[in-house]
Amino acid sequence: MRQITVVGCGIIGLTSAIVLQEKNWKVRLLARERFENTLSDKVGAIWFPFAIQPVEEASRWGNKSYQRYSKELFPGNGVSFIPFTIAYNASSNTLWTQKLPKGALLRDATDQELPIGAEAAYVATVPLAEPHLYLPHLFERFIANGGTFEQIEISSLKQLSELDALIVNCTGLGAKFICMDHELVPMRGQILRTEWLNVQSCVNSTQNGALSYIIRRSTDCIIGGTDYLNDWNMNIESNDTNLILSRFHATGLFHKRPEILEEVVGLRPNRSQVRFTFDSQYPHVFHNYGHGGSGFTVAWGCALELAEIISKDYSPE
Ligand SMILES: Cc1cc2nc3c(=O)[nH]c(=O)nc-3n(C[C@H](O)[C@H](O)[C@H](O)COP(=O)(O)OP(=O)(O)OC[C@H]3O[C@@H](n4cnc5c(N)ncnc54)[C@H](O)[C@@H]3O)c2cc1C
Repeated sequence: MRQITVVGCGIIGLTSAIVLQEKNWKVRLLARERFENTLSDKVGAIWFPFAIQPVEEASRWGNKSYQRYSKELFPGNGVSFIPFTIAYNASSNTLWTQKLPKGALLRDATDQELPIGAEAAYVATVPLAEPHLYLPHLFERFIANGGTFEQIEISSLKQLSELDALIVNCTGLGAKFICMDHELVPMRGQILRTEWLNVQSCVNSTQNGALSYIIRRSTDCIIGGTDYLNDWNMNIESNDTNLILSRFHATGLFHKRPEILEEVVGLRPNRSQVRFTFDSQYPHVFHNYGHGGSGFTVAWGCALELAEIISKDYSPE
């Protein structure tokens, strides 16, 4: 069995590591932070293509991920399928709707379901992967499959390239400094984790700078959000909390002020397009980072494709 090293222990690194194991690779996982301290642990996380390029590939990866999530339904691991109302207008990317599996039951929202202010909306059944349950589940599966984990900080592409004969780079926004990648920039998101509310999950991302969504999870809700490009601010901003609440109330879905359990800030790894290729200078390094606001939405699709590409070019045996 041949060894491969995956760097990064967020949703992208964990799914890549597991699919490589399924293809008979001996996988070593390295990262500065374990899964519980990554961006991936802080978020929703619902299946919805948002702030990711290229659109065509993202739709294909999203479709493959969707199908994989339907095989990931194990008791207590945080994966479920829920109805999601998705507002759109003439300038929205709706390519993903054509690629949805039949089980998504895509339909137009009824007048009662349409959030106030939205021109039109779809309702689809989509995967939800609650990170605080799903990431430990993936990590335990990876270890049970014979994987190993080590904490290490990488400071350059050269250092990364010297880790092994084959390496997959899943370092999210960290890749900006490792690869000196100027195309990778943060998109700041602030969200509120609130008490559980009896409302249907929905998103309105039709206006730049006015992102609004609610994700109803098993025991709480996530209300978002902000989408500030090139903003490195990791502080909780009370102005943003107020903005998020006022946009949420403006949807007309819920009228009381929800009890806020936690305010969270995260930086989406936004890139002109996901870097999903072998490195030109170090061809034994495969990059898989820059998934913007859609890491959970496309993770399995990227993992399945990269394991195929790598196993074709290099045999795992
Ligand atoms: C507010 C908010 C809400 C979101 N909601 C959703 C959602 O509902 N659905 C969805 O699909 N997506 C959502 N996203 C996007 C999603 O969170 C990201 O796309 C995803 O988490 C990126 O995963 P990743 O594994 O690439 O990065 P990360 O989770 O950041 O993991 C990166 C890993 O690389 C390691 N690393 C970094 N630098 C180094 C280094 N120098 N040396 C060694 N290791 C390093 C880190 O320690 C970590 O282990 C949201 C994002 C935000 C901010």
